[in-house]
Amino acid sequence: MPELPEVETARHILNLQLGHRTIESVRLEDPRVVAYPSSERFSQALIHCPFGARGAEPVSRRGKFLLFPLPGDRQLVIHLRMTGRILVAPPSLSPRYLRLLLTLSDGNELRLEDPRRLGRVWLLEADEECAAGLNRLGTEPWDPALSADYLQTCWKKHKKKIKLCLLDQTVVCGIGNIYSDEILFAAGIRPDRPADTLSDTEWQTLAAAIPRELTYFTEKNAISPQDYVLGHGHEYRNTPFLRVYGRDRQPCARCGRPLIKTRIGGRSSVYCETCQR
Ligand SMILES: [Zn+2]
Repeated sequence: MPELPEVETARHILNLQLGHRTIESVRLEDPRVVAYPSSERFSQALIHCPFGARGAEPVSRRGKFLLFPLPGDRQLVIHLRMTGRILVAPPSLSPRYLRLLLTLSDGNELRLEDPRRLGRVWLLEADEECAAGLNRLGTEPWDPALSADYLQTCWKKHKKKIKLCLLDQTVVCGIGNIYSDEILFAAGIRPDRPADTLSDTEWQTLAAAIPRELTYFTEKNAISPQDYVLGHGHEYRNTPFLRVYGRDRQPCARCGRPLIKTRIGGRSSVYCETCQR
């Protein structure tokens, strides 16, 4: 499931490949992939658009959204959701689960591939950020504004479980099911703790763990553009470094006792009863 580290990896690779490229044609394999505006308007408006408009990098990121600035203060926005992958590939590499294909001026193809078809794309004018919900996103995990004070202001009077707080994109954006478990393990906090029971020290530990863990897992995702394309943008190299997510009943990396799986607000969560309080 792509979360901030995976979206950041895609952003990094696409930035190496999209500079000075122009969109020559648009092929919508599945028109439902376009969330806004209509699929017809989307396709027409993208033709002849260059990437890297307004002197910006071709791709930026906000939370789990990829943003491609285009001329005229417009932007192409992509959210990969559960199983989406985005890559620039040569036509000789057969697509898998193709939803959207943009032919580029250098002959390569920018593709959205997505087995579960939940990924979505938007083409937004300058004042249309709300159409994709970009206006509701909270602080970026790597923004210095993310502090213990900020987290406490948002959550300390709430009984909401801390795992669900971390999933709330309107407070901190980019964290999903995988890295919320990893961050809470690193911070030594049980995922089912109500937010209003955390101490000042625990808020500080949590605020420090969020950017640190996301940096660690982004770095562990490092991959060459060639390998990224061959893996169809789906090779997440940090998986062996996960300490709790997907490791139910395996020994805790810190204390050796078996990890426990629970459900919190409909989401699975794995933690260590000994190392997390
Ligand atoms: Zn443990």
